[in-house]
Amino acid sequence: MRWGLVGATVIGREWMIAAIREAGGEIVGVMSRDADRGRKYAEEFSIPRATTSLDALLSEVDAVYIATTNERHKEECLAAARAGRHVLCEKPLATNLADARQMVEACRRAGVTLAVNHHLRNSAAHRAMRDLIAQGKIGKPLSARLVHGGSLPEHLRTWRLSNPSAGAGAVLDLTVHDADLLRFVLGDEPEIVVSIAQNGGLAAAGVEDAAMSVVRFRSGLLASVYDSFTTPHLQTSLEVHGPDGSIVATDNMPQRPGGSLIVRTRSGEEKPALAFENYYVRGVRAFHDAVRGEGAPSATGEDGLRSLAVALAALRSAASGKAAPIDPGL
Ligand code: NDP
Repeated sequence: MRWGLVGATVIGREWMIAAIREAGGEIVGVMSRDADRGRKYAEEFSIPRATTSLDALLSEVDAVYIATTNERHKEECLAAARAGRHVLCEKPLATNLADARQMVEACRRAGVTLAVNHHLRNSAAHRAMRDLIAQGKIGKPLSARLVHGGSLPEHLRTWRLSNPSAGAGAVLDLTVHDADLLRFVLGDEPEIVVSIAQNGGLAAAGVEDAAMSVVRFRSGLLASVYDSFTTPHLQTSLEVHGPDGSIVATDNMPQRPGGSLIVRTRSGEEKPALAFENYYVRGVRAFHDAVRGEGAPSATGEDGLRSLAVALAALRSAASGKAAPIDPGL
């Protein structure tokens, strides 16, 4: 598969260039609005071509990895669909639901694969949790608690903290991943959310650098979700509790693979063995398979639309002080 990178980005530098290559993809070009930055990026990663033209990039590839700031995803995805190219798009899929729906629809009509890079689905801990819950290990899940805080690294303290039109803030950056992860692990759909946002002094005025939300799912399950850019010493975790048991993953939210899992039932505690692999490599491999017609991507465009609907509802709730219904409009 011949890939083009849309955007000369940190996520490409840190994870996705290596992941695409390890999964067997060939990166033939990178598009950046800044010719000089694009050229240097291409040189640094031995990418044959750099261009400022998305159309030029699209003419040379089978698939694009779109990792620009979030307000650019829509137009770049629509251009790729028009050119008949498959799309792996970063989260959040877009900055509003109408755009996200247009992207899903355009790719469907063009017959190209649209996937969203919700990498946490590819964690062995999360996959084991999903399987155990589906097997009824803890009975009907009644509550969940997801803690997804940390410290936003210095080199990422740019548009995420200051540019609302690019989708700044902890909710569109982190809560969107949580929403997808909870849907995946629980096999359930979120219906309503109550959120309170916080500015702890890291983000610009008016942009949240942390938020706490409670989400009710269709089954009645209640999930509390904490996201932050401002709490460097926090341990991440995901707990799911039912009448017959609890499953607790810890240190499970970083990008590097890892974490531990404990299952507590009447019979005692178990620690399932977990075979972790790089989340991004696994995601690209699933994408390649999906393009070949073998299975679905880890997270589809529709999954990206649904996680975005949760994050946008959380922002509405935080702004209004009221519970906000979650409606992806599907
Ligand atoms: P970057 O800030 O590195 O890049 C975002 C865009 O900004 C790029 O497309 C680039 O566009 C432009 N840009 C890059 N460097 C500079 C610079 N020095 N000066 C001016 N503009 C610059 O973003 P990230 O890599 O952090 O995030 C990109 C996307 O990936 C986002 O959608 C984000 O939400 C997502 N993401 C997903 C993660 C995951 O695990 N799934 C993790 C991290 C991010 P151009 O080259 O065209 O100028």
